[in-house]
Amino acid sequence: MTEATSPLSDQVPDPEVYRRRRSYTDLYARSLVGPMYYIVACLMLLFIGGLGSVALAVTICAAVMFLALWRLRYTNRLPVDFTDEQVCARWSRRQWGSIHAGYILWGLVTVVVTLDQGELNNAVFTASLAISMFGNAASTVFTVNSTQQRITLAALHWPIILVLAIFPQFRVLALVLFLHWIWCGLSATRLASEYRVQVELEYALLVSRAEVQALARTDALTGLANRHEYVSRLNWAWLSAQRNKSPLVMAVIDLDHFKVVNDVHGHLAGDVCLKHVAGLLKHHFRRADDFVARIGGEEFVAILPSTTIEVGLRMCEEFRLALAASVINFEDKSIKMTTSIGVGIVTPSAEIKPDASFARIDAATYEAKSRGRNQTVIAANIKA
Ligand code: GH3
Ligand code: MG
Ligand code: MG
Repeated sequence: MTEATSPLSDQVPDPEVYRRRRSYTDLYARSLVGPMYYIVACLMLLFIGGLGSVALAVTICAAVMFLALWRLRYTNRLPVDFTDEQVCARWSRRQWGSIHAGYILWGLVTVVVTLDQGELNNAVFTASLAISMFGNAASTVFTVNSTQQRITLAALHWPIILVLAIFPQFRVLALVLFLHWIWCGLSATRLASEYRVQVELEYALLVSRAEVQALARTDALTGLANRHEYVSRLNWAWLSAQRNKSPLVMAVIDLDHFKVVNDVHGHLAGDVCLKHVAGLLKHHFRRADDFVARIGGEEFVAILPSTTIEVGLRMCEEFRLALAASVINFEDKSIKMTTSIGVGIVTPSAEIKPDASFARIDAATYEAKSRGRNQTVIAANIKA
């Protein structure tokens, strides 16, 4: 039987899968434009001019490689199935590989340009300033993975810091970049933890929304679907049966003299009886597509798609007889109950309204009452 509410696991992804999907999607979007900034920085160095032949060749080659990196990141399409750990790990390795490659490459360009120029001039300043820009970008954009983020920051800063530190005329710049690396690291740590908290909060929100939605569809006493869920399930089953031109069996089940049970044994005993009925319903209408709901105080309904009236009648009778044969023990009392059932079959079409079918089957339930209760009555055929 389809539960009133599908389990939460069906509606909310596994937390690990959710985090993975969220962070990979962010990483993909955030890393797409990066290579374009590198290319602009290369063009600026070329525009400033004065580069020696090696530095010129390295800068031009780097610009072409940044273009290739952009293509690599663009074509590394996000995994379709985020539960597939192997595919996801491969995707992540490729994406982070291309990100690290970009940072290493810019570090290399800066080193080559600095060695080529040998003095603090526009080209060296531009290359170093770009280090600071790309470092800032890494600390704010790559918050999805703090370890990888630290690697990018180190790959970007340390080659140039070490090279600058060798030459006295560059030591102040080396110190500035060193302090910048520390600042980027601290800011990256804070932003990465904020990102983690944000994703956790989103996930918690998703879980509580699913819980609230599940509660809104469930009858609190019996755990069966409630009337609200019944209406939407009936419409869904109706349209589906109409599309497949298949019949729908419906049953309206009303407990007999339930007021007396309450009057004699008390309301608490009545509640225990309702739970007992719900358990029996779940047991007897348990095929994958079967659906049962509590639509009123002591009124239940069953929707049985793709079945015949003979099978539907047999299922109702088996349930009715099982209920009549069972004894509910509450405190020191033994309570017995019976039920009256109306059952009918309909082949849904645009001309027939679900409400009209329900009314015919409900009428059959009252017919069962007037014939003396504890029986099942088949509703007259429902025609347009
Ligand atoms: P009939 O055979 O004609 O259906 O008689 P009935 O007594 O079952 O029907 P009636 O509609 O007169 O009474 C229904 C009773 O169901 C009244 C109410 O006390 C009881 N009931 C409805 N909801 C609940 C509930 O949530 N818990 C309990 N314990 N009783 C309920
Ligand atoms: Mg009743
Ligand atoms: Mg009733």
